[in-house]
Amino acid sequence: MKSNKRQFVGIHHVTAIAGNPQENLDFYVGILGLRLVKRSVNQDDPGTYHFFYADAVGTPGTDLTFFAWPGGLRGRDGTGQLASVALAIPSGSMEYWMKRLADHGVPHEGPYRKFDEEVITFSDVHGQALELVAAKDSSSRPWEFWADSPIPAQHAIRGIHGVVLKEASEYPTASFLTEHLGFRLVAEDGGRKRFAVGRGGSGAWLDLLITPYAPRGRVGVGTIHHVAWRTPSDEEQKQWWQRIRNLGVPISDIIDRFWFRSVYFPEPGGALFEIATDGPGFMVDQAFGELGTRLVLPPWLEPHRAEIERALLPIHRPEFYTESGRIPTWED
Ligand code: ZN
Repeated sequence: MKSNKRQFVGIHHVTAIAGNPQENLDFYVGILGLRLVKRSVNQDDPGTYHFFYADAVGTPGTDLTFFAWPGGLRGRDGTGQLASVALAIPSGSMEYWMKRLADHGVPHEGPYRKFDEEVITFSDVHGQALELVAAKDSSSRPWEFWADSPIPAQHAIRGIHGVVLKEASEYPTASFLTEHLGFRLVAEDGGRKRFAVGRGGSGAWLDLLITPYAPRGRVGVGTIHHVAWRTPSDEEQKQWWQRIRNLGVPISDIIDRFWFRSVYFPEPGGALFEIATDGPGFMVDQAFGELGTRLVLPPWLEPHRAEIERALLPIHRPEFYTESGRIPTWED
């Protein structure tokens, strides 16, 4: 890494579109064992949920978030789109997960090898493509075990491993990544190019998959809305904002998401990227034990709580949640 060039630390979070919110909760908390660290609403559409799943505390890089669009249109898998998200598991945990998915009626394919890693592929309850990757470096990742997870610590998901970006052609996305966003090409495998950012490794991969004849992707239920890249400080975020704006790329203002600050811009192929600050984090407004247990609104939406709550579908404690024998705190 050139020391004079700022780099993203890795993936901050991935946001996708779900259908029914209860089914989404049952899958990600109940089956995959992630912690719901924030139960909020889409700040751009406050009548719909925004769920944040992560490790115990919401460590940047472990966070997979969903907008729930019950009854929403299905998205279409295609180009100009983030096609799938890979989750890191410990290298000895593949058999455990194959059995767990089978026990819960989730079909999977694999394991097979990709970039010298063992991978299984499957879809969530609303059709979002997912991978579990046995990550050799999973133990060196910053991660906090959630003691109320139905998954034992030695097999628990360690965070987001990487994302797959699908494009009709390599140009101009690949050169945009390397020339302007600090990514570097590190491997090629069967038509996929793997790019790394920051220190690379689990949590810092972007795989570019070229599919010239695929249709163009369309955002909807079962597709990824955007990927967010980590920046450590507001100062660096401002520098990114200026640099990307100077390229003539349309970029949003810096938006205060309360738990982090965000800017959004499309990469040249059309997929939406975000740059998000590591702080202040999910415990800025809730203590550790309270994370995810009730609906949290940013201060500017708090005056509208009653009408927002009326518009939201009721949810209850996720299915399979108490397999571990614990009854975690939960407000319906
Ligand atoms: Zn985001």
